[in-house]
Amino acid sequence: ETIPDNLDATVARFADREALVDVQEGVRWTYREFSDRTVELARALLAAGVRKGDRVGIWAPNCAEWTLTQYATARIGAILVNINPSYRTHELEYVLKQAGISFLVSAAQFKTSNYAEMVEEVRGNCPDLREVVLIGTPSWDGLLARAQEVPAEQVAEVQAGLDRNEPINIQYTSGTTGFPKGATLSHRNILNNGFFVGELCRYTEADRICIPVPFYHCFGMVMGNLAATTHGAAMVIPAAGFDPVATLKATQDERVTSLYGVPTMFIAEWALPDFESYDLSTVRTGIMAGSPCPAEMMKKLIASGIEEMTICYGMTETSPVSTQTRTDDTFERKVGTVGAVGPHLEIKVVDPLTRETVPRGQTGEFCTKGYSVMLGYWNQPDKTNEVLEDGWMHTGDLAVMDEHGYVQITGRIKDMVIRGGENIYPREIEEFLYTHPDILDAQVIGVPDAKYGEELCAWIRMKEGAEPLTADKLREFATGKLAHYKIPRYVQVVDEFPMTVTGKVRKVEMREKSVAELG
Ligand code: ATP
Ligand code: MG
Repeated sequence: ETIPDNLDATVARFADREALVDVQEGVRWTYREFSDRTVELARALLAAGVRKGDRVGIWAPNCAEWTLTQYATARIGAILVNINPSYRTHELEYVLKQAGISFLVSAAQFKTSNYAEMVEEVRGNCPDLREVVLIGTPSWDGLLARAQEVPAEQVAEVQAGLDRNEPINIQYTSGTTGFPKGATLSHRNILNNGFFVGELCRYTEADRICIPVPFYHCFGMVMGNLAATTHGAAMVIPAAGFDPVATLKATQDERVTSLYGVPTMFIAEWALPDFESYDLSTVRTGIMAGSPCPAEMMKKLIASGIEEMTICYGMTETSPVSTQTRTDDTFERKVGTVGAVGPHLEIKVVDPLTRETVPRGQTGEFCTKGYSVMLGYWNQPDKTNEVLEDGWMHTGDLAVMDEHGYVQITGRIKDMVIRGGENIYPREIEEFLYTHPDILDAQVIGVPDAKYGEELCAWIRMKEGAEPLTADKLREFATGKLAHYKIPRYVQVVDEFPMTVTGKVRKVEMREKSVAELG
């Protein structure tokens, strides 16, 4: 099955149910209305000369038109290229050229970002780029007006000729550890992933999913949009960019049953001074994912009544989800693991050097195989060969699998700290720091040290009104609870961490700053 065929099947069953609500734009579409609009846009794209296999870029914060473009391009087999809305001209130009984008759908302006101006600036350098339309401007209306040049039957004809194994989407990785790479994904990759994520959240047409995570990333567009449309559930867009107040308000007003977020989003929402005033009683389930999910935050979510909250682990290259906790898991598994392997997927934990599977309970590199594994990095066969071997995706993440197949992610191979010969997983120490009553958020990195090779440095955000923590006070708190070599030697109290737009902490940047500061 292809993505558009699946959407048509959903429309046939749930035509009158709500498909999409964009709170900020005041959009409210049923599945019938949503589907009709994707056909209209697909006709317009055909009229504008977009053909199967062409790359169509989408560069915008979350909005209804983003999702329309996602499904309209899928109907005609054009490859949607998600472009990070926080990119600026240099990065935009890179992606436009790297993916050979010929048609770009862009936001005009959002907050201080003038997308229209940035596009004009780089356009002359991108010979492949034929046409640009700006959402919410006359150029967007002009595009839609062209729909009448092409009959709907022509869209149906193109759609019928698509194959589920063909590429339909290029998603760039978050760029947490280096330069983003474009993962090329097929209908089969992302449609299955969206569907099974939805299955494990037990979605039905009665569910309403609040999606504050960016669509440009797989969390939003696959675990959000595709999980919804494969089940007839509603997609609720609380705001264009992340806003904790707008998210909780939309959750309450739209009677949301499933709430999404990366850990930092939940942390921000649950820390709002008026948090208690929001009625979140309709929320049954949800997903926390994208980066290490603190057990403390998961406990809070469950204590707030979201008992079926789940955690997912995955990466852009695997569509993205590999493991997920189950809604009926034990409390311990829900808060302390990233769950067990997803349906019809395979996982293993291997020695990063020998690539032999390690015994249960031992740390190694997480690998996965199955429908979720990308076709490859777009136009980067060497990079693809580095990570794919016999169909197995080598993730670069460190994991431990228990005897029941439940997985804990202990960090990234690149983030592991080796201090005086001891392997230290910053994740373990971060979890410990979260138990400190004054600490809001904590990150641990390794900094070079003449004596031990590396020393630990903790970046800490304090709760409002709390005294800044010092290295001495931290030592006092940790002594007797953590082995001495795991107690961070340095503490830096900060207001914010350097983040990617997908809500991941950029430890690379933190390391550079700490090294500069500590001398
Ligand atoms: P890049 O590959 O460009 O450096 P990135 O790996 O952050 O960036 P993504 O594909 O968006 O790009 O993120 C996938 C990574 O996020 C995983 O490899 C893993 O390190 C981390 N991650 C995702 N979910 C979880 C989770 N539940 N717990 C711990 N880590 C997670
Ligand atoms: Mg990665």
